[in-house]
Amino acid sequence: MPAAAPKPKISPTIWMILLGLAMMAGVSFMSGVGDVAPIPYSQFQAYLDAGKVKSVVVNGDSIRGTLNEAMADGKTQFTTVSVPRDLAAALSDHKVEFSATAGGGAFATVLSWIIPPILFVGIWMFASRGMGGAGGMAGGLFSMGRSKAKLVAPETDIKVAFDDVAGVDEAKAELHEIVDFLKRPDEFGRLGAHIPRGILLVGPPGTGKTLLARAVAGEAGVPFFSTNGAEFVEMFVGVGASRVRDLFEHARTSAPCIIFIDELDALGRARGASAMGGQDEKEQTLNQLLAEMDGFDRSAAIVVLAATNRPEILDPALLRAGRFDRQVLVDRPDKIGRVQILGIHTKKLSLASDVKLEDIAALTPGFTGADLANLANEAAVVATRRGGVDIGMADFTAAVERIVAGLEKKSRILIPRERRIVAYHEMGHTLVALAIPGSDPIQKVSIIPRGIGALGYTMQRPTDDRFLMGLHELEDKMTVLMGGRAAETLLGSDISTGASDDLAKATDIARGMVMRFGMDKALGPVALDTEQGQFLGQPGAFWQPRRFSEQTAREIDQAVRTRLEAALARAIGILADNRAALDAGAELLLTRETLGAEDLPKVKMVG
Ligand code: ADP
Ligand code: MG
Ligand code: ZN
Repeated sequence: MPAAAPKPKISPTIWMILLGLAMMAGVSFMSGVGDVAPIPYSQFQAYLDAGKVKSVVVNGDSIRGTLNEAMADGKTQFTTVSVPRDLAAALSDHKVEFSATAGGGAFATVLSWIIPPILFVGIWMFASRGMGGAGGMAGGLFSMGRSKAKLVAPETDIKVAFDDVAGVDEAKAELHEIVDFLKRPDEFGRLGAHIPRGILLVGPPGTGKTLLARAVAGEAGVPFFSTNGAEFVEMFVGVGASRVRDLFEHARTSAPCIIFIDELDALGRARGASAMGGQDEKEQTLNQLLAEMDGFDRSAAIVVLAATNRPEILDPALLRAGRFDRQVLVDRPDKIGRVQILGIHTKKLSLASDVKLEDIAALTPGFTGADLANLANEAAVVATRRGGVDIGMADFTAAVERIVAGLEKKSRILIPRERRIVAYHEMGHTLVALAIPGSDPIQKVSIIPRGIGALGYTMQRPTDDRFLMGLHELEDKMTVLMGGRAAETLLGSDISTGASDDLAKATDIARGMVMRFGMDKALGPVALDTEQGQFLGQPGAFWQPRRFSEQTAREIDQAVRTRLEAALARAIGILADNRAALDAGAELLLTRETLGAEDLPKVKMVG
């Protein structure tokens, strides 16, 4: 690269500014500041009344014109800005001289001439500095890969310990081994054993993957290189790869240590899986990562931890032996786990004596560690706002409701007819659930709108975490979901859009029964949908080949529809038998807005 760069670097800047100034001067000259006289609007009106105005050009508020005879200063052209008519009339009645200024127009015009050149010059200077740093273009590009890798300075003094993570005992047990290895690499090598080089933490968002990785570093007391998969995704081919190379180079000098790549899926997406561009760059980065993982010495005490919530889209090459061959599932905590996590996150809070973590855990099936941390904080906020001395059970219940159903929006007012429909809808769910033995008890039913979309809600409390469900349970669930629509049908006026969420859920269940669980007699015990890309409830790949015939597809649709119709018919049947209870319950709900479990016996049902 030629080394004579500095000179032209400055002079074009000056040229640019001079050019800008010249343009501005030119423009103001052309607009004829020279022989056009700005006059007050009242003056213009006077000329007009005296018949001296020959012609005008009106542009918005501003008026340019020519006079029949020269003004006092010898000019025949003038400009002025118009004043609103009423005002002008009033002003001229009182013989006031008046004029107007164009609304910010002149200033805006000047700005619009000054800003673009400045911006342009700024960008140009920025670019030339980025590239010129190491002398010329190529140096600039190379240093781009380097500069960001420097951000990955290792954290050396991590305070997180395994005790700060709860409810993921299996994952912790597996990672204990890694900690032992990092603490005493020599001892581990004694019998020739080597530790897995890459460990992939897999689980839904918020379950504590990042926290676990940090805990491993904290327990082992080793440097922790923390990066995010997305940081390696760059526009320029080769930059991401060089960043990976730098990272590993850096890590090798500080072994024993941990490299943590969060959100690995951003970088390790299966090649060819995305239709968008940027393929070359991603592929190179991924290849570099694979090469680095193969390349480092088995005995080097470097452990690569990675986390993802979408393992199914990872490139298979990443999961091969010798790379991320060890996968640790970090799943949502069960009830005992939730109690422990709540224990951690309420340690620093002042709890009232009525707070039982077991009861809160029972209220929160499906919550992740992050949700529970949020819940503890939310409860503290609720208690603070009501001015309490400590955080009571009611605060936690309120926080659960808030998190589950979105923030209460009392301000949103429904018109009475809508309220009536919502009341029947929610009472429909409730009565159907009450009528079906063994369904989850109703916790609360309300017509107070919450969050986005939900106009009312019926909260059922699952008694236990469920991992298996029987055919009849699924049918019961669908029937309860249909209870809302069923009640609206009985109300007779019209069916509403309020059931869309229920219908979507019921349809999911029906499709699952038919396509995944082999529960449909006619279609037989065939898994038609093998849950590819459905792992952990994430939406899967965009396109999936269908593995059954057109005929089967039609039968599936038919079977799903039949099941949904049966569930709706059953719900309508139940509610028709209990019409009086439905009417009474809906009335009660309309007056009280919210009913708890204790109010429901007041709604009398037959059989
Ligand atoms: P992930 O990386 O799996 O998305 P994080 O590790 O970032 O989740 O978790 C976010 C926060 O949630 C943590 O900082 C912690 O406060 C809390 N948390 C999540 N899981 C747990 C857990 N198992 N035990 C204790 N706290 C947890
Ligand atoms: Mg994370
Ligand atoms: Zn509903």
